[in-house]
Amino acid sequence: MIYLDYSATTPVSYDVLDSYNKATRDYMGNANSIHALGVKSKVLLNSAIKQICELFNIQENELIITSGATEANNMALKGVALAYQNRGKHIIVSKLEHPSIYRICDFLESQGFEISYVNNDEDGLIDFEDLRKKIKDETILVSICAVNSEVGIRQPLKTIRQVIKKENPNTLFHSDITQAIGKIPVSLHDVDMASMSAHKIFGPKGIGFLYKNSKVNIVPLIHGSGKFNDLRNGTPPLPLIVAMSKACRIALKDLESKEIKVKKLNERICLELEKYDGILINKTKYSIPHILNISFKNIRPETFIHAMEDDEIYLSTNTACSSGDLSTSVMALYGDKKRAMSTIRISLSYVTTNEEITKFLNIFKLRYNQLNELISVDSK
Ligand code: PMP
Repeated sequence: MIYLDYSATTPVSYDVLDSYNKATRDYMGNANSIHALGVKSKVLLNSAIKQICELFNIQENELIITSGATEANNMALKGVALAYQNRGKHIIVSKLEHPSIYRICDFLESQGFEISYVNNDEDGLIDFEDLRKKIKDETILVSICAVNSEVGIRQPLKTIRQVIKKENPNTLFHSDITQAIGKIPVSLHDVDMASMSAHKIFGPKGIGFLYKNSKVNIVPLIHGSGKFNDLRNGTPPLPLIVAMSKACRIALKDLESKEIKVKKLNERICLELEKYDGILINKTKYSIPHILNISFKNIRPETFIHAMEDDEIYLSTNTACSSGDLSTSVMALYGDKKRAMSTIRISLSYVTTNEEITKFLNIFKLRYNQLNELISVDSK
């Protein structure tokens, strides 16, 4: 098997799985219980949380454990909307967000909030002037992802923060950093809130977090006993939290050398795919090398993905969360509907090897030629 869909999800690393298994086996107590088994679990819970906070240089009361980035995005946007609606009902997002952000915005719009979409330039960079103009007194929140999940466009969070705060110091800045962690350096001090998910960094599915600066208020979405965290109640999923802390520790190590390796693989693929007349490469100077998006001029992306699957090569259409739809990101970049309807995403990791890419490119060529021949026979 050659797995090239690391931006959809990653396998759980053996070290992470060992931590998960050990916490499950040896720490059965509820960390909210006051007896010895509960206390033993609570000690482990505290140390896992402390480790995550140290890694991201944040305070422990700024970390809210969630089931993943979708929940963290909901908590950030709806939580802020509810908490600050008396101050204003205006929210700004980019045109390069994950579908979960758009669905939350649709919901908030139905509840009387106004949503504005900030423009980007032809390379995907946020248009700072447009952002500045769109911020008004009633703007309570701006949400812009650190790395886009379809084309891998990376945004300068620090600069965006400066633009926002200069225009309105009360406007909060949230970033979905799910596709950035473990790929590029991110400082949580550049934002007021950030969403992240462990299954993108070789951690388990069903766990993530929202970073929320201690000065920011949010209304909780899930009410409960309040023993673990007032903002997200319930029995803490200890093995998942321990596993996430391990995954974060591994993910943040040696970022630079990992990125250099992935960049070389990306360049190899691009060099080859550039030779195909029927392929457009959806890449700009801000695309990170881990995400490589292309459009076919003639072949249907689903057909191609299933053809590659016959050789156990796994790719995706624009994102795992919006398979088959128009790629909003490719649309935001090129304004070309046909191009945006025919994308596939090849996503790489530092564990991807040169041998895998050689095999991928050979099979790509074979399948591409076969499908193109079929098309030309059909059209005769
Ligand atoms: N945001 C981004 C940028 C993502 O790539 C994803 C996963 N596709 C999500 C949010 C949703 O994450 P989760 O699966 O943890 O809910």
